[in-house]
Amino acid sequence: MFENLSERLSGVFDRLTKQGALSDEDVKTALREVRVALLEADVSLPVARDFIKKVQDQATGQAVTKSVTPGQQVVKIVHDALIDVLTGEGDPGKLKIDNPPAPILMVGLQGSGKTTTTAKLAKRMKDREGKRVLMASLDTNRPAAMEQLAILGNQIGVDTLPIVKGETPVQIAKRAKTQASLGGYDVYMLDTAGRLHIDAELIQQAAEVRDVANPRETLLVVDGLTGQDAVNVATEFDDKIGVTGVVLTRMDGDGRGGAALSMRAVTGKPIRFVGLGEKMDAIETFEPDRIAGRILGMGDIVSLVEKAQETIEAEQAEKMMKRMMKGQFNMNDLKMQLEQMIQMGGMQGMMGMMPGMKKMAKQVEDAGFDDKILKQQIALVQSMTKKERANPQILQASRKKRIAAGAGMQVSDLNKLLKMHRQMGDMMKKMGKMGKGGMLKQAMK
Ligand code: GDP
Repeated sequence: MFENLSERLSGVFDRLTKQGALSDEDVKTALREVRVALLEADVSLPVARDFIKKVQDQATGQAVTKSVTPGQQVVKIVHDALIDVLTGEGDPGKLKIDNPPAPILMVGLQGSGKTTTTAKLAKRMKDREGKRVLMASLDTNRPAAMEQLAILGNQIGVDTLPIVKGETPVQIAKRAKTQASLGGYDVYMLDTAGRLHIDAELIQQAAEVRDVANPRETLLVVDGLTGQDAVNVATEFDDKIGVTGVVLTRMDGDGRGGAALSMRAVTGKPIRFVGLGEKMDAIETFEPDRIAGRILGMGDIVSLVEKAQETIEAEQAEKMMKRMMKGQFNMNDLKMQLEQMIQMGGMQGMMGMMPGMKKMAKQVEDAGFDDKILKQQIALVQSMTKKERANPQILQASRKKRIAAGAGMQVSDLNKLLKMHRQMGDMMKKMGKMGKGGMLKQAMK
């Protein structure tokens, strides 16, 4: 699913024509695909439509940066716009827990991960801020759920309110408040009952609890895998109870994250945390750029584009390109390429940013091939004379020995570098021959 999307987008972007600025047609073609991508990522139709319109206005007429393709640039614009929509005000991870004991109300459907999230957040506040937290389960219909919270509390070293049979949720909430005040707790968390679907009784119960507890934060926990349903649930809860933030769980699964975008756009509520697994530490503050990357499914093209803009001097590269296509790729050019690779984060850095290459980056790292090798190769070139750099074919045994020694390396290392240079030169000559539509020229757009 991911691959198809990436491929389709790349296909469209490759066809975009090179011009001084992004044309209407370029942008439209690309955005049509982005729209499909958004829908596939489970973004709701009206949200996708609004979003695309906004991007279209922004993208048309933007100057094309020399070192990236127009397509990549559209991706970057889309990506930035996604972040814009996803970003709420303030720090999502900062819960309002100043006035002790601060009540936090947890709401959501059964199975959304509400109890797990309650414990995760309690642990986080305890570990990171040294807060004393009390957790209470209000799920009087399901004794198992109450026990589950007690077990988790034990596991993470956070107190839970003792279970008293026969109490109503409101009574439990009141008892939690008293206990939290008397016991000197900083925070008390109320884990309300969940149902499989929203019903009037559930909402009524949560509203009553809210009225007695007067929570500083009301966090809605939704399953990130449920897509559009999650948005409906959020709207409903927000209308009836009023929430101060959303926690998206199961973001470790292969959901596309589109729910996050719809959720923000439709409810206007900030996403505060994401759940990333079953373990008690598997929770993180919401980071819009991660979700944006996930929705686009394009690896981290965006940072690639950003880095390319920062590091590549367009004219320099173009000059080099002209010579290279005529087969004049010398050692200075090679050195420049190696240096650019280091600037762009080295081999692993670059691979990690390309779709589908993350695994390979890991292998490269495991094989011990790191920036050290790039630096050694640069040192070898530096140890050549001007004449040698321009004409590496004059390198005979004695010159090779001198150069290798000068860089503190072996002749065999130098031979490897020369071989690489020859292969690159051959490849570029071939590409140059492919003429105007040649790959290399495309790559320079
Ligand atoms: P509740 O009914 O809403 O209280 O849901 P639970 O907290 O009992 O969670 C239901 C199941 O989902 C449990 O097996 C949790 O371990 C699991 N779960 C909760 N959050 C996450 C998450 O972020 N990722 C994954 N993979 N599983 C989660």
